[in-house]
Amino acid sequence: MTEKWNLSAAPESTSHVELQDTYHLFINGEFRKPKSGKYFDTINPATNTVIATVSEAGKQDVDDAMKAAEKAFPAWSKLDGKERGKYIFRIARMIQERSREFAVIESLDGGKPIRESRDVDIPLAAAHFFYCAGWADKLEYAFPNRSPKPLGVAAQIIPWNFPLLMAAWKIAPALACGNTVVLKPAETTPLTALKLAEIIQEAGLPPGVVNIVTGAGETGAAMTAHPIPKKLAFTGSTEVGKFIYKAALDGNKKVTLELGGKAANIIFDDAPIEAAVEGIINGIYFNQGHVCCAGSRLFVQETVYEEVLSKLKRRMDTFIVGDPMDKNTDIGAINSKAQLKTIEEYLKIGREEGAEIYQPKCNLPKTGNWCAPTLFTNVAQSNRIVQEEIFGPVLAIQTFRTIDEVIDKANNTPYGLSAGVWTDKGSKIFQLTQALKAGVIWANTYNKFDATSPFGGYKESGFGREGGIHGMEAYLKFD
Ligand code: NAP
Ligand code: MG
Repeated sequence: MTEKWNLSAAPESTSHVELQDTYHLFINGEFRKPKSGKYFDTINPATNTVIATVSEAGKQDVDDAMKAAEKAFPAWSKLDGKERGKYIFRIARMIQERSREFAVIESLDGGKPIRESRDVDIPLAAAHFFYCAGWADKLEYAFPNRSPKPLGVAAQIIPWNFPLLMAAWKIAPALACGNTVVLKPAETTPLTALKLAEIIQEAGLPPGVVNIVTGAGETGAAMTAHPIPKKLAFTGSTEVGKFIYKAALDGNKKVTLELGGKAANIIFDDAPIEAAVEGIINGIYFNQGHVCCAGSRLFVQETVYEEVLSKLKRRMDTFIVGDPMDKNTDIGAINSKAQLKTIEEYLKIGREEGAEIYQPKCNLPKTGNWCAPTLFTNVAQSNRIVQEEIFGPVLAIQTFRTIDEVIDKANNTPYGLSAGVWTDKGSKIFQLTQALKAGVIWANTYNKFDATSPFGGYKESGFGREGGIHGMEAYLKFD
């Protein structure tokens, strides 16, 4: 085992963060008590203590939010693109100005390491607002000769793994294209969306253009069944995505679905191995593996298998797992008790399927939701841990000999969101990017995101793209 550095604790300060005890719904530009009269707690998964109490929007609340968005649509959609852009630029700048506060709240509420919320989630969220703001007055150039027009009200439902970033992916393009929105963050991570609502209020956005309703699945179902929205935008599991799709068909609404994944990360024997090992680590252990595009199936060419495996284990031995607020932490808390239970169930299934398990020794904290980073070897294509999305820090490793073999194996999944290829041959990269059925394929890197670049899947990973011009197209109709 590699010697671990004994680093002193380096906790990020929380003293600059202002949180209320109770949060209300953001409807028509103001924070309102829920008509449902119901509230729920949002928990810090690293300690399992309550951070704040949040409103649960019932049917009546969802209806109010939809009506506010519908009322705001005519003026917002007719506003000059340049003026719309100014509001969106303002939101982007305010996120940047308050990025430290957002990062701390994201880590407190969701359990991800502060290093990731500070360096990835929040800067990317700001980048999406900046990017879309720039297009607001140039839609005619983005879609030449197509007379782009906004759709109306968009109902947007997002998951808990990248809470603010997913809100940005949804809200920024919708606004830039002249739509109004009702957004629901996930039950376990509502706080940064509510902070975003504060910014939206401060930015002076006209009332009703953005409405944020908190709640769980029932609130989401009330949104998708509502007659007002012309567009449903969903990021979450394939299981719930199927319900949303049906609701969209029933209600004759446009729909985009960003669903689950089980990505192949493929290492050829001519790859730069040290870099590839970092790519494997980043691919599966980033954000505790709560990543739709996580490289959760690793394929290593047989000739370098032993080398890759031993380097990977050595690298895993250096992981610091624990307090998300510590700047040294590599792996934070599992987002919820329910998700931890799911992951633990898969660890059991993996063992029962006969796979060999490896976990580095780590001192997991006594309270909170924790899972040691895990890899499974000796797995078969048919194993459940190879076929199903675990959404945790769990990697399944297989080997291959030829390109054709690895293409077959990589495509043998109901999903098709992302993949990674590691080789020094450009020709191999081109061959694989053509042959792999995945929306996003990284070459000699992994989990890189950019506001200008479209992201989305094939097959059971959903359809539609977010990011880039493609992401805006989903919020427009054309003559
Ligand atoms: P989820 O259970 O499908 O939930 C997603 C959102 O839908 C949450 O806000 C959830 O509410 C809400 N919801 C639940 N039931 C609903 C219903 N019947 N009608 C309408 N809305 C409903 O997914 P999750 O566990 O939060 O997120 C993990 C999944 O998201 C993974 O499968 C992951 O791969 C996927 N994901 C995909 C992408 C992508 O871009 N493709 C990105 C990130 C995550 P509550 O959670 O509040 O109950
Ligand atoms: Mg929480």
